[in-house]
Amino acid sequence: MNKTIQTTCPYCGVGCGISAKVDEAHHRLKISGDTSHPANFGRLCSKGSALGETIELKGRLLQPKVYGRETSWTEALDLVADSFLSTIEKYGADAVAIYGSGQLLTEDYYVANKLMKGFIGSGNMDTNSRLCMSSSVAGHKRAFGSDTVPGCYEDFEQAEMIVLIGSNTAWCHPVSFQRIRAAKEANPALKIVVIDPRRTASCDIADLHLPLASGSDAALFNGLLHFLREQNALDFAYIEAHTEGFVEALNTAGIDIERVAKTCRLNKDDLHRFYAWFAGHKKVMSLYSQGINQSSSGTDKVNAIINCHLATGSIGKPGMGPFSLTGQPNAMGGREVGGLSHQLAAHMDFSSTDDIERVARFWNTSNIAKKPGYPAVELFDAIYDGKVKAVWIMGTNPAVSLPNADKVKQALQGCEFVVVSDCIADTDTTALAHVLLPAQGWSEKDGTVTNSERRISRQRALFKPADSAKPDWWIITQVARRMGFEQAFHYQSPVEIFREHAQLSGFENNGLRDFDISAFADITRHEYDHLQPIQWPVNQAYPQGRARLFEDGRFFTESGKARFIAITPRQPVNLPDQDYPLILNTGRLRDQWHTMTRTAIAAKLNQHKTEPFVEVHPDDAHYLSLKECDEPLCGREIISATGARMN
Ligand code: SF4
Repeated sequence: MNKTIQTTCPYCGVGCGISAKVDEAHHRLKISGDTSHPANFGRLCSKGSALGETIELKGRLLQPKVYGRETSWTEALDLVADSFLSTIEKYGADAVAIYGSGQLLTEDYYVANKLMKGFIGSGNMDTNSRLCMSSSVAGHKRAFGSDTVPGCYEDFEQAEMIVLIGSNTAWCHPVSFQRIRAAKEANPALKIVVIDPRRTASCDIADLHLPLASGSDAALFNGLLHFLREQNALDFAYIEAHTEGFVEALNTAGIDIERVAKTCRLNKDDLHRFYAWFAGHKKVMSLYSQGINQSSSGTDKVNAIINCHLATGSIGKPGMGPFSLTGQPNAMGGREVGGLSHQLAAHMDFSSTDDIERVARFWNTSNIAKKPGYPAVELFDAIYDGKVKAVWIMGTNPAVSLPNADKVKQALQGCEFVVVSDCIADTDTTALAHVLLPAQGWSEKDGTVTNSERRISRQRALFKPADSAKPDWWIITQVARRMGFEQAFHYQSPVEIFREHAQLSGFENNGLRDFDISAFADITRHEYDHLQPIQWPVNQAYPQGRARLFEDGRFFTESGKARFIAITPRQPVNLPDQDYPLILNTGRLRDQWHTMTRTAIAAKLNQHKTEPFVEVHPDDAHYLSLKECDEPLCGREIISATGARMN
């Protein structure tokens, strides 16, 4: 019998609600957008719409494997637990690690983090969300004292100006882009500015595109702060009442528009137009994504943007504020549970002894980690160097997706013990595993995810698990029990984990921490099964959730005031030069997700871009004597315009 189940899309951080008509007998799905879900109100992009084509069992990992041989869950789990225990005994807790993913559900993430940081006693749990979100996390913490996204999607419709910075929203967050486009159609006075070195599809609706020099974003926003001061467009009452550090930030930002234009290689008139628009509108939203976050000075860029919003008091109210677009479906949920190696749990981290003691009390453990572990890139360096000898990779494909992928491959090839849990059998990373654990796929999993606007939604199982596939939380719990932590990992279902997560968020909180979902501390299974999308915090003060934070100008710093951060921009790369004649920038394909292990299964998603490609600016192409559809550069020696050699 067909039934309709409301669930959530497993791809990007927009977090669209899906209405899935399930034909269990034929293992088929009819997908449509959930018209009642506040993230998308029925809209879906090409990826979400094609989910029904990605659920086939071909290519799935369906049985545990040990050294290439199919085996029972018992043998595989025993081996993982024994190997982790013996590695810890021989080399210490920091010789093991977990590398997770924004694809994991919050409940999976919670138990993985609890196992590593609370009971194994190492900070070595990090996640691929490190690559997309850690700059925002750090920027938020510096400015607000908490990792808080202040606004919500509703603000798109209420803004007077939307600035897209380092974000090809049209391809990477398509439904948010559709929503912005609709807002522009309904209100043509809404100004859209795109700040991106490339002219992308997002520029289709832009009133202004600023093709700044790669890496020069902080200088551009420092210049904006300076301009706002010159134009007397600052909100001094707000600055005085609700912030600190303004004078130092302003003095450090002292860069006039001439110099900004030169630094950013922008047309001065265009730059002035943007600055004047920002100064002339109160309801400004600054949406930023990987072009800001994935940078060696990403945190400074985030704070340079936030500084401008604090200076104009345009934060925490309808239609305004800085807004980080999360890449993955549950990047936000991972941050909530403490999935980054410097975090502990429930928006507490290793920088506070009180936090460490509080979490240890709550988890009732004497073996809690006391210091951060390796962040993602350093983690694989540590594996390469032989410092980390056993690693468990969950739901991600770092042999392709991490920078310097060849080194990552070598690291895993040389690692003594590699465990991979995944729903896909053949990825570049599963090929390097000693133990493979079949995880359930999107259509089988049950739990929660949190999107860019802090909205927690249920992901619901549509089908029975394929063959021997198990939920990630179950796999982790089974290993934890075998390692001797039965009492702390007693869970029988995801609702029990969610309940504990909610209890921890409210534990000794007293309004000190932004992440508080203590209203769910006693949630029943029935309530969990019927949970409707809701934005945290969800507590006694806000039982129905909260669309915006900081409306009252109170922040989570010690003083209660937001902090301006003085930003000295890192010099933008001055290319081309003799050794590096070109800048390579990466992007996302509209119809594919991550390393394509799932989306490439859907034939129609391969039609948008049928093969990998490189786009080259016509000037560079001319200098390099390249023509459309030319042979690949590899293996050819090319002399660039600067006379440098490229091989
Ligand atoms: S916009 Fe993102 S969440 Fe929404 S359907 Fe597309 S991929 Fe899924």
